[in-house]
Amino acid sequence: MTERYGAHNYHPLPVVISHGEGAWVTDVEGKRYLDCLAGYSALNFGHGNPRLLQRAHAQLDRLTLTSRAFFNDTLGPFAQALCELTGHDAILPMNTGAEAVETALKVSRKWGYRVKGVPEDQANIVVMEGNFHGRTTTIVSFSDDKDARDEYGPYTPGFRTVRYGDADALRAAVDDFTVAVLLEPIQGEGGVVIPPEGYLREVRSICDELGVLMVADEIQSGLARTGRTFAVDHEDVRPDVFVLGKALGGGIYPVSAITAPTRILEVITPGTHGSTFGGNPLAAAIGHEVVTMLQEGEFQARATHLGGVLEEGLRPLVGNGLDAVRVRGLWAGLDVSPGGPTGRQLCERLMERGILAKDTHGSTIRLAPPLVVAESEIALLVGAVADALDA
Ligand SMILES: *Cc1c(COP(=O)(O)O)cnc(C)c1O
Repeated sequence: MTERYGAHNYHPLPVVISHGEGAWVTDVEGKRYLDCLAGYSALNFGHGNPRLLQRAHAQLDRLTLTSRAFFNDTLGPFAQALCELTGHDAILPMNTGAEAVETALKVSRKWGYRVKGVPEDQANIVVMEGNFHGRTTTIVSFSDDKDARDEYGPYTPGFRTVRYGDADALRAAVDDFTVAVLLEPIQGEGGVVIPPEGYLREVRSICDELGVLMVADEIQSGLARTGRTFAVDHEDVRPDVFVLGKALGGGIYPVSAITAPTRILEVITPGTHGSTFGGNPLAAAIGHEVVTMLQEGEFQARATHLGGVLEEGLRPLVGNGLDAVRVRGLWAGLDVSPGGPTGRQLCERLMERGILAKDTHGSTIRLAPPLVVAESEIALLVGAVADALDA
């Protein structure tokens, strides 16, 4: 029915899911699958996480929406907790990831004009080859994915693209009118692409040296997926702006935000940016519970441990059906060897074996099970991948 009545903007695997619990989903025929996409990491805490559900239910019964025309009693505590988690001192809440990215772009430009002194309409922002930051007209303007970008022009100007992982190229691209560098610390849609060791630290020092904001889109990489709260933590780097989404809503509700120091976020004044639903009481309650869970550190530890198990299991497949495996925490990108199945075919075979995963860019698949998955289920996943490559 979705295919009959919905626009075909996705090409789903032929499974109709009707129930989810933890790392598992069940289809309408009662067949169970291990969910190794986890809503592109929106479901880091699993389907129907009891703690998040309880918090959401309680808030649903109390207050759901006020608009930002009035204060509500959940946004402040959520904002404070998120500031503690990020080490920043202000947040701007939105709903979807793309909106948070847009917010970061707007804040960067305004900061450039008001603080850095860039002449009107001259600001530029450096972005990365292979980026994925969402689907708005401005964001697709600086995408290099033809499917995402073609026939959506005229495009928003003011962006320049450099090679991901190449600090020299970044330095060369920055000029007096550059206000920000926008990057994913690990490129998720790109296929879990991990930049060379030390790159994030170099980006940080280039930004410091040249007076440019470092904006880290951690919508997919953040919130415990990589074994640390944020992927930048692996290099002990603090960006000027964090862009968060996906798991911030616990897989229940769209919750996104940017966080930054006040000296940056204070460029936003009443009326200059906003959202009807951004920071609503239900979103703030769920987001606050997510942050509280992250402060306890259990999910980061699980991602590190289970990621090690996953990597150990996948490593022997390199040269045996896979060309490469990239793992950081419980997050893996697998490149299928030429002559093997396409990414899509491999996902179809995995589905027959009770595993749901998603291909990206032809011959790559991404594995990102919920962080509540059991160690024995990682073995199940690895076995199914080996078997499906063999088939
Ligand atoms: C998913 C994603 C987005 C966009 O989030 P939406 O909620 O789909 O708008 C932006 N950046 C990254 C890195 C993402 O993975």
